[in-house]
Amino acid sequence: MTTTIVECQCGARIRKSSRAAHLRTTRHATQLLAAAAEAYIARQDRTEHPVGRFDNAGRFWPDDSEWRGCCSGVREPSRSYPYSYMVHCRTMTHITRLYGVDEQVLRREVRKLRPPEHLGATQRVWFKRVAVVDGRFVSIFDGVTEYRLGKQLIQAVRTNHGGGFYVRDTAEGAAAAPVPDDSVLLDAPQVVLAVEVGGSYTRYDNGKVAFSRITPLYVALELELEAVTQLAA
Ligand SMILES: [Zn+2]
Ligand SMILES: [Zn+2]
Repeated sequence: MTTTIVECQCGARIRKSSRAAHLRTTRHATQLLAAAAEAYIARQDRTEHPVGRFDNAGRFWPDDSEWRGCCSGVREPSRSYPYSYMVHCRTMTHITRLYGVDEQVLRREVRKLRPPEHLGATQRVWFKRVAVVDGRFVSIFDGVTEYRLGKQLIQAVRTNHGGGFYVRDTAEGAAAAPVPDDSVLLDAPQVVLAVEVGGSYTRYDNGKVAFSRITPLYVALELELEAVTQLAA
């Protein structure tokens, strides 16, 4: 009799015939959760990438193995916004469905592996919400500071919101982040930019971090204004 050994999604190598029994074990549940947490962190760090392919226009399409029900709610990639699936497949929502684990439990596991106070030191790509004016990305707050893709901006970080570029650790967090009431471009169309950070930083209580250097990389989320208003409310 031959035994076929297969690798489970949790990383365990098991006999194919005993797969059903294995899926019911505590060991499987524990390892699957750890694997999901590691995948989430690695995808946020850009050391692991969603499984898929780029077409001639540079648009990313996930493979069948990557595809889950949540993906059907994502806007199809376009030439000007080629990474809609790429961005989505790095989110907590998608990883939860990819591994079939509970979202709250996964969040807790991620926090255990990577406490928030370590994020500033290791996470290189953060997210910033900006306004779009005449095709340019500008600061919602001052309406003047321009964020150009690939161009680094430098501003000294000071405590008490005195300086630096404010970012969030997830695109969803940046989309939902409140902006000051006296911001000049509250009503303009807005997007969330993925930015590479560097230099010094200051952490604020509400999950916001100010970095002294940021380089805008790409548009991570396009926000419908209605949705923005709802998030801010
Ligand atoms: Zn398993
Ligand atoms: Zn998905």
